Amino acid sequence: MITVWSYSKLSTWTRCPAQFRFRYLEQAPVESVGAALLLGSAVHHGVQLIHSRRKLGLAVGLAEIQGSVTSFLEASVRHAEAPVEYPKTHTTLSATLDLSRRLIETYLAQGPSGEVVVTELELTHPIAWLPGLKLTGVVDRIESDEQGGLRVVELKTASKRLSQAELDASDQVTIYALLLDLAGYPGVKLRYEVLTKAKRPHLLTMDTVRTPNHETRLLERIDQVSRAVASGVFPRVVAPQTCRGCAYRKRCGVSG
Ligand code: SF4
Repeated sequence: MITVWSYSKLSTWTRCPAQFRFRYLEQAPVESVGAALLLGSAVHHGVQLIHSRRKLGLAVGLAEIQGSVTSFLEASVRHAEAPVEYPKTHTTLSATLDLSRRLIETYLAQGPSGEVVVTELELTHPIAWLPGLKLTGVVDRIESDEQGGLRVVELKTASKRLSQAELDASDQVTIYALLLDLAGYPGVKLRYEVLTKAKRPHLLTMDTVRTPNHETRLLERIDQVSRAVASGVFPRVVAPQTCRGCAYRKRCGVSG
């Protein structure tokens, strides 16, 4: 029985309900670890370090942050619970480390200047409309905006530019907006920082808004998915773009 819902659970179920079953219900060991995932975590680590230092009024040195990201990524690969799979764009650890350094350099060169209020804020709240269920999420950063209000900033590392429509439709910041609303901070502004893993990385800052309609649709969706999970409905969604990066291909019986 899943009672605590997060963006990760919802998006996994949307991608492939069978993958959801392997990951969250059976807690099956993964058969591979995506290097892109490890890279994303390492860059997140570096960006959080940048903002933690900014919050404390400390200097942020490029070489120091890159060094920390390198150590983080090397340790992640060393301790990965399954063989690491590298994508075509960075096929070795060395190429992945090089990309991580360029991403951090780009972020620092183009990075934001808002005053940091808090980083890595974990929020969990019961959902009054769905008895027995809770919603949880970890907000990357909250900063004060130009008008003195609060703004949630979510970093995404992406292999291509994300469209405004994609970001406007994402459940991720809808969850943050709802959690902050429930915690007594309604109407926070919402921003994505999209760091693109191109040969020459670039950082795009994109604002988005959420309305009560978004929140209603999110709650309806959690209700539907939790009912589907409770009734044991886990169809496989066999598609090259999802199965290629799936960590349960053998278990599922999908090869390639
Ligand atoms: S291999 Fe494909 S169909 Fe099977 S669980 Fe993974 S994503 Fe779903």
